[in-house]
Amino acid sequence: MDQGKTGEFWLYDLKVETVLDGRTPVCRHIEGDSFRVEGETLVFEPGTHISMYALAAVLPLLPVRQRMTDPNDWVSTDAEVACPDPHCGGRFRITRLGKRRFTHAATTGLLEARGEAYWQADKS
Ligand SMILES: [Zn+2]
Repeated sequence: MDQGKTGEFWLYDLKVETVLDGRTPVCRHIEGDSFRVEGETLVFEPGTHISMYALAAVLPLLPVRQRMTDPNDWVSTDAEVACPDPHCGGRFRITRLGKRRFTHAATTGLLEARGEAYWQADKS
């Protein structure tokens, strides 16, 4: 496998924010509630809530939104995900923030390529 000179790759950090824009929610969606995505981690500020049904709808799109995509790809432009309840006005806006550097060695599960896990290196 060609890992380039450094074995590094970059992922966007994301912000996932509840938006209603005047629609009526059925679920407990509080406009402005948000969480961040940093690598594999969902980061919630104290007091932030999200419906588990809504989270289930949002989760599949997070890894692809973290990656560099073609500007013409719908994934690059369509940033809102609807709550899966068809009667609910809740939406979740996924915004790309800054890019975060990772390395293959710090993220792979392949024994022959594995280095110190990125989350262990972050503790030092
Ligand atoms: Zn909902």
